Amino acid sequence: MTAEIITIGDELLYGQTVDTNSAYLGERLTALGIEVKYKSAVGDDVKQIVDAIKLAMKRSDLVITTGGLGPTPDDVSKKAICDHFGRKLVLYEDILRKVESWYAKKGVEMPAIVRNQALLPEGTRPLSNDWGTAPGIFLEEKEKLFFALPGVPIEMERIFDNGIVPILKERIPSGRVIAFRKIRTAGISEARLHEKLSSILEESGDVGIAFLPTSSGVDLRLTIKSNNPTEAQRKLDDFEKKIQGKLEKYIYGTGEETLEKAVGDLLREKRLTVAVAESCTGGLLGKKITNVSGSSDYFLGGVISYSDELKMKLLGVPKEVLEKEGAVSEKCALSMAEGVRRLTGADYGISITGIAGPTGGTVDKPVGLVYIGIAGDEGSSARKYVFTKERELNRELSAQTALNLLRLELTQS
Ligand code: AMP
Ligand code: MG
Repeated sequence: MTAEIITIGDELLYGQTVDTNSAYLGERLTALGIEVKYKSAVGDDVKQIVDAIKLAMKRSDLVITTGGLGPTPDDVSKKAICDHFGRKLVLYEDILRKVESWYAKKGVEMPAIVRNQALLPEGTRPLSNDWGTAPGIFLEEKEKLFFALPGVPIEMERIFDNGIVPILKERIPSGRVIAFRKIRTAGISEARLHEKLSSILEESGDVGIAFLPTSSGVDLRLTIKSNNPTEAQRKLDDFEKKIQGKLEKYIYGTGEETLEKAVGDLLREKRLTVAVAESCTGGLLGKKITNVSGSSDYFLGGVISYSDELKMKLLGVPKEVLEKEGAVSEKCALSMAEGVRRLTGADYGISITGIAGPTGGTVDKPVGLVYIGIAGDEGSSARKYVFTKERELNRELSAQTALNLLRLELTQS
């Protein structure tokens, strides 16, 4: 069964409302083993909606629209449904009574316009809406299913879960699955990742693979569509093992596992502690490490040494380093990492110093230049990075890269 989603509303096209409805429906339909092939957004305009429904009913087995079912004249989805399917709007007495009692229960007089909610295309099946007054609409034509839902996310979600899912479950073969696996990598680019995997990509069989870059690295998403859930999981397991064999240390986790969680687990396992010395990230690295509940097992704390003064006073960065090399330098990063390790007694000291931007860059030291230092009992090192022109992204990439450096250090030690 293939599905198509049409979201309706001028606000979606103007960019004033983010379309979360199709994300919700896409996720739910996929979980049911139904393949979503298309989605589109159209304005509150009868012709646009009719065109979209016509195309969708031709190419998909299941079509779901959201939005435009309200009682006011700007909502025209019901008119479009009538036009396309050749139906009239008729009064559904039971819906009218339901809407009336909805108002009666609230002790509020029903505005006359709300009567429109009980007008539905003839011969369609209303889908009960207990969270608002616009019912969903269901009709079947030539073995194809058509559903229209209100735009308000909570109403749309509840009608889908309670009204549509049971109808779909009756019609899809049991055992149909679309299964996923997410493998998370860090410290390697998308292109290099592809290169490393090239020899096994041909052996992927019916497992699909996608490369999804994020600020922490590149996620690999494995997908399989199958009528046999057990076999699907086995095939994912097999392919994941092959990938692990090729990527080893670049993989930090699966599913929703984060870099900070992976680092935390390693520190706890090895009974080691860490402290941070941050400049341009202003505490973001410490924030990330403490995102993980139980991080007090291995995180001692840190210093936000934004000024040169504090770099010298608290971390013992030599004045000559700051004068000769500057605060954004390899030597300063080294000295900060060693300093915070000494100050706190942690097993590892991690430092970040850089130019987040957008101001403050020079020809020699451009915006995005960042040094990350790491000090441990086997010595210390610092590495240079040149990230982007965007302040927030530079801070995020700095913190994530620092986490990954520590992770690599821990997997090697
Ligand atoms: P409607 O049913 O078209 O009157 O929509 C009611 C409200 O639902 C709108 O004002 C939007 O805030 C919200 N809405 C409509 N469509 C979507 C969508 N695709 N995603 C998220 N919110 C939506
Ligand atoms: Mg609308």
